[in-house]
Amino acid sequence: MSFVFTPPAIPSVPVVGTSARFPVNRVYCVGRNYEEHAKEMGFTGREPPFFFLKPANSVVVVEAGQTGTLPYPSLTSNFHHEIELVACIGTGGKNIKAADALKHIFGYAVGLDMTRRDLQGEMKKQGRPWCIGKAFDQSAPIGPITPAAQAGDVANAEISLQVNGKDRQRSTVAKLIWNIGETIEHLSAAWELQPGDLIYTGTPEGVAAVVAGDTLVGEVKGLGSLSIKVV
Ligand code: MN
Repeated sequence: MSFVFTPPAIPSVPVVGTSARFPVNRVYCVGRNYEEHAKEMGFTGREPPFFFLKPANSVVVVEAGQTGTLPYPSLTSNFHHEIELVACIGTGGKNIKAADALKHIFGYAVGLDMTRRDLQGEMKKQGRPWCIGKAFDQSAPIGPITPAAQAGDVANAEISLQVNGKDRQRSTVAKLIWNIGETIEHLSAAWELQPGDLIYTGTPEGVAAVVAGDTLVGEVKGLGSLSIKVV
């Protein structure tokens, strides 16, 4: 088979303990999945989980031990960080029950759901899709994937983000409104999950703006860290 032009490379993420890489298929994100973050965004109460997507090639892959580079995006003056646990699907499926969901997870990583908050807010106000606020180029930084068996008790891990060495976000994955299994149950009822799919599971409270020159260090205990500088 030939192509009319050279196809783009498949984005891929390093995996701890092997030179083989995880090929990225789709990037799903869960909205408002920690109560205190839902409140800071002006919402209360438990609502059914909802999802949005980013293009696979919006990932910014930060190799182990490196500090990545994150270009400040166009069209915004309110560029927000959202630190998130990322569940990485190794085995696909549809209508997966929460109790079976962990078997479908290859591993976990630390990710950032970067957001052009001003554009997202404008789209929300007008009842329009969030894409321009959420699914822009280089909006999904991610660090190396730790295989599930080596990741420890991810469901109860501390999750944090520091900007220039100061705490911005600090919580625990135990505070997810919809836990990882429940999220996969809901998501796989709407889409047939495929190997290579990433699920950004939501952010705790403390989202705020960054500017060029800031260095972000995100951590989920047991997974190592994600370090990236805004330029
Ligand atoms: Mn998010």
